[in-house]
Amino acid sequence: MKTLYIIIPCYNEEKVLPITAPMFLKKILQLNQEGLISDESRVMFIDDGSKDDTWKIISGLAKEDKHFTGIRQSRNRGHQNAVLAGLMEAKDKCDITISIDCDGQDDINAMDDMVRAYLDGCEVVYGVRKERKTDTFFKRFTAEGFYKVLKWMGADVVFNHADYRLISSRVLQEFASFKEVNLYLRGMVPLVGFKSTSVYYARAERLAGESHYPLKKMLALAFEGITSLSTKPLKMITGLGIVTVFLSLLAAFITLLCLLFGTGVGGLWWIALLVSFFAGVQIICIGLVGSYMGKTYMEVKARPRYIISERTEDQ
Ligand code: UDP
Ligand code: MG
Repeated sequence: MKTLYIIIPCYNEEKVLPITAPMFLKKILQLNQEGLISDESRVMFIDDGSKDDTWKIISGLAKEDKHFTGIRQSRNRGHQNAVLAGLMEAKDKCDITISIDCDGQDDINAMDDMVRAYLDGCEVVYGVRKERKTDTFFKRFTAEGFYKVLKWMGADVVFNHADYRLISSRVLQEFASFKEVNLYLRGMVPLVGFKSTSVYYARAERLAGESHYPLKKMLALAFEGITSLSTKPLKMITGLGIVTVFLSLLAAFITLLCLLFGTGVGGLWWIALLVSFFAGVQIICIGLVGSYMGKTYMEVKARPRYIISERTEDQ
């Protein structure tokens, strides 16, 4: 039977943990009873350097029930790093991981479908929000707009999927070779490949405590997403330069017409044309430098160049 580790990042969550921890445990026990996962399955908390009693609560839980386990980061490093720490810690101990926030916003019952999808042969299962009724209009608008911008920038992300997902340990072994330090997990996991699917669920309100993602942090994550997955912003500079040069040529043409047909132009027209033309040329040059920088950036990431998913010898 397959072993499941539920990976749960926690930062200053003393208010919500006592409510949600029993829910996670119940889920493990239920899935085990249904014969879907083994009794070796665990609820793994990652304390992301909390300043409150979160770690005390986690240690207490681990003493109470063998299905609870926990690790603690030496300091707060942020949600993405906490999830990664949990995934890497779990990858050699289990067959399946499911990462989920600890605040009860993501429907725990979607795990049933995720595990079934895994047993049907999927190595990655994305939890996707059906609707965003509980979010404010502003959060919904900015979040959905962000996914669209990311897609347009050429980054492969699953629409309305955050960090609630099943990943098999098979995929995690490969994922371990993605050595980059700027983490945007939801954009990186699709890069690994393998068979994947989505499970849809309704997102609820936080059960207790407060969100750690105010607008400032959301914007920072959005920026991280774009700049760590795509070098398109650099390439766009070249486009801007070409447009500027084109506009200055158009202006030159109009000036020529005015000169030919006698509708006078101001005295220093040629200076204006030269300035705008060379501004365009300069922007193109910056774009060109940017293209090489983008390539260097991608090289520095040293991502794996190929990942083999099957071999005939294994069959
Ligand atoms: N989190 C974390 N480190 C941080 C901030 C948040 O591990 O520096 C965890 C937090 O405990 C929660 C998850 O990341 O389990 C998502 O955070 P939150 O619910 O505050 O974000 P929201 O759902 O409001 O976007
Ligand atoms: Mg939350």
